Amino acid sequence: MNSNTTLRRIVVTGSNKGIGYEIVGKLLASTTPYQVVLTARNPSLGEKAVESLRVKYPQSAGKVIFQQLDVNDEKSISSFADWIKATFGKIDVLVNNAGVGLPNSTEEDKKFIIKTNFLSLIKLTDKLLPLLSEDGKILMISSALGGLDIQGETLRKALEDPSLDLTKLLQVANNFLELSKDFNPPFPHITDAAYPGSKALLNTYVKRFLPQQLGANQQLYAICPGWCKTDLGSDYAPLTAADGADTPVYLIDLPFKKDSEINGKFITERKVRGW
Ligand code: NAP
Repeated sequence: MNSNTTLRRIVVTGSNKGIGYEIVGKLLASTTPYQVVLTARNPSLGEKAVESLRVKYPQSAGKVIFQQLDVNDEKSISSFADWIKATFGKIDVLVNNAGVGLPNSTEEDKKFIIKTNFLSLIKLTDKLLPLLSEDGKILMISSALGGLDIQGETLRKALEDPSLDLTKLLQVANNFLELSKDFNPPFPHITDAAYPGSKALLNTYVKRFLPQQLGANQQLYAICPGWCKTDLGSDYAPLTAADGADTPVYLIDLPFKKDSEINGKFITERKVRGW
């Protein structure tokens, strides 16, 4: 693959900093050349991130490009999809990385977390799915905190309900405040239900509903990057943001050929783990 027209095209959401930024960096450093789209809600932060990566990886300077994308803004999602269509036609990998986590959040904060980490992510994925190549991959950056055992009993039961469908899952998300009242913090640094709940909703979507919308050769993964030192993860985290980028880039680098041993699974430290 030598010409830009034949490179695999990869979109990483929320990649102006943190794990997303490191994912883009590792892709530019990879022995496999990729065309990477670094996206950010704030254009000046996005442009700055691209510039710094071009300096760091001069051999790949032409392979990273910035495009504005605020996952909470439907107009931004639409413009982004139009730009992808006009510029590349298709993409080969979508990394849904953008996310927020606010400790001690108010009710409004909680709704904002569920929106950003789950409801908006579904809207973006729906919009980009028709633009995903026939053997494309979707990577969802989730968290071990999305485990059902970490959630309160009411939310857990709602997500385990065998009659749950996508419409009901969206209702669960919209009714999150009510359904998470019995949340009992499992760790001292996890102070409220919204962040774990947003990832539990995401895991349920990946496990039970998104696979039905994918083509036979398209791949899907939920990934826990580990607890990493970022603005979201805090300085107490044991891993670096670059460590957190390892598993996503490992999965991107694997052949574009579906492997039922790992496809559709929850992956951490390059290995399949239970949901
Ligand atoms: P981070 O450093 O705070 O980066 C989050 C990124 O998401 C930033 O680029 C941020 O942009 C972007 N973002 C937030 N809201 C957005 C929106 N509406 N539209 C577009 N971009 C938006 O956090 P991180 O630790 O790298 O987190 C990346 C992902 O890893 C998240 O999904 C997170 O839940 C997951 N994760 C992190 C850890 C950890 O320990 N760090 C552990 C498990 C999972 P701004 O700069 O504009 O805010």
